[in-house]
Amino acid sequence: MYFPSWLSQLYKGLSRPIRRTTQPIWGSLYRSLVQSSQRTNPEFNSFAVRTNTCGELRSSHLGQEVTLCGWIQYRRQNTFLVLRDFHGLVQVVIPQDESAASVKKILCEAPVESVVRVSGTVTSRPAGQENPKMPTGKIEIKVKTAELLNACKKLPFEIKDFMKKTEALRLQYRYLDLRSFQMQYNLRLRSQMVMKMREYLCNLHGFVDIETPTLFKRTPGGAKEFLVPSREPGKFYSLPQSPQQFKQLLMVGGLDRYFQVARCYRDEGSRPDRQPEFTQIDIEMSFVDQTGIQSLIEGLLQYSWPNDKDPVVVPFPTVTFTEALATYGTDKPDTRFGMKIIDISDVFRNTEIGFLQDALSKPHGTVKAICIPEGAKYLKRKDIESIRKFAADHFNQCSLLGKLRLECADLLETRGMVLRDPTLFSFLWVVDFPLFLPKEENPRELESAHHPFTAPHPSDIHLLYTEPKKARSQHYDLVLNGNEIGGGSIRIHNAELQRYILATLLKEDVKILSHLLQALDYGAPPHGGIALGLDRLICLVTGSPSIRDVIAFPKSFRGHDLMSNAPDSIPPEELKPYHIRVSWPTDSKAERAH
Ligand code: ASP
Repeated sequence: MYFPSWLSQLYKGLSRPIRRTTQPIWGSLYRSLVQSSQRTNPEFNSFAVRTNTCGELRSSHLGQEVTLCGWIQYRRQNTFLVLRDFHGLVQVVIPQDESAASVKKILCEAPVESVVRVSGTVTSRPAGQENPKMPTGKIEIKVKTAELLNACKKLPFEIKDFMKKTEALRLQYRYLDLRSFQMQYNLRLRSQMVMKMREYLCNLHGFVDIETPTLFKRTPGGAKEFLVPSREPGKFYSLPQSPQQFKQLLMVGGLDRYFQVARCYRDEGSRPDRQPEFTQIDIEMSFVDQTGIQSLIEGLLQYSWPNDKDPVVVPFPTVTFTEALATYGTDKPDTRFGMKIIDISDVFRNTEIGFLQDALSKPHGTVKAICIPEGAKYLKRKDIESIRKFAADHFNQCSLLGKLRLECADLLETRGMVLRDPTLFSFLWVVDFPLFLPKEENPRELESAHHPFTAPHPSDIHLLYTEPKKARSQHYDLVLNGNEIGGGSIRIHNAELQRYILATLLKEDVKILSHLLQALDYGAPPHGGIALGLDRLICLVTGSPSIRDVIAFPKSFRGHDLMSNAPDSIPPEELKPYHIRVSWPTDSKAERAH
């Protein structure tokens, strides 16, 4: 696909650290627009009552009569206004002569953040008054007419990126927060990346964009689902965790290359990188193997990657699950830096140090180490103490060394070492996961490591009938800078095997999935797929601190919409058609009485 140069320039300009000042951004926008050609530029002014955007005006527009719409960013001495729209800022000269008294009144009295429309001429600024930091800094608008489109009341916070505000306040007034340059940038970049993904999948590779239902039924295993009451007594829909079953059924239906920008729902506790509703780039295809899916995703990311970043280098490196755990202590290793875990058991085989001897005498007992480069130079005594405490607090977790590795990296960076290059994007495939893991609540039972539709590794099928715990799967995860950004698998397309895994190994009620099992019996093709977590991916690309910063209307940490106050209570009479009555916890009853 042709990627318009204005956009690549936009990416380039906007992806710098911009939290402190808006100036560099407008500067970059300036370059992006100057370098763009009319032919490839989106038409920002079509159908609108303006002739130009505020940010696009340059010396090349001198003498033109323009009409602009925007928000009043600030006013100086009743002589100048700075008008803002998504494209940038422009200086407007407030007329001082008697004949324009009404225009002056409008522009001088409208509070900051009021929205106005002005018409006038583009003129050059008087010599010496140019502002080189402002992309429109060589020109100004001599206003002839002005119209107050809507006045703004006193704001709960200033619309300036560098003004600190709490996240709760930002979420409560999200529509104002969206006016910030950072949010504008994040959402526009997200839209452009998705656009390019659609191009790549549909136009270059023949995928079909298909919507699947969001009112569905319970799926066995996996995350907790949100329930939606129905008017049939005791019957509920579930919101899907993902379109997994539908995309497999589409394969049975012969739609052999499916994709969707899919909304998924999981009723799990909030974490910084999780939201109860989130978006996946969901993909499934028939007649494909693991390497086929991996190459597809590498191409997709390469194609949709913002041009200002270092190009994505493919193929991505691959490690097995076992290697990842042994070398990094986690199945989502951050490979931007070394500090790998090394087995030094042999060095201590004949040691007389008691606790090491003790460790080595246990079955599978090992002694492992991480070499911290220049640790002695960078780390202070209290850092070593905090590492020791961290290790003690997490003792007996096998993931301890992996956590310790990241903890040490954080410490080194706070002491000034540059360990993780902020411009580096380090992709990694993790493959050969076990098919099953012991259930957390009952380790004697098994649960799927990915989901129950994942096919076993071809060389481990026999283990399903003898030692299922040892069977590896055809499940692959994509990791970026230590974050899981995608996961998928080759699926089971044989009904008998699927039934055996569900009923015998996972002890699930197969009736819930009878439609899928039946479909597999009617000539289901071999198939596989993957889903990329779009919010997480964009969060990493934009360098945002939280996925909430790349979602227009996210939920709070506790899963609430702080703007509208969802979830909300429903009067009992409105619950009647659903045959539902709320059983209030005793203390909340007391609370409600107040
Ligand atoms: N549906 C899976 C998930 O959401 C991804 C896949 O296997 O394609 O994790």
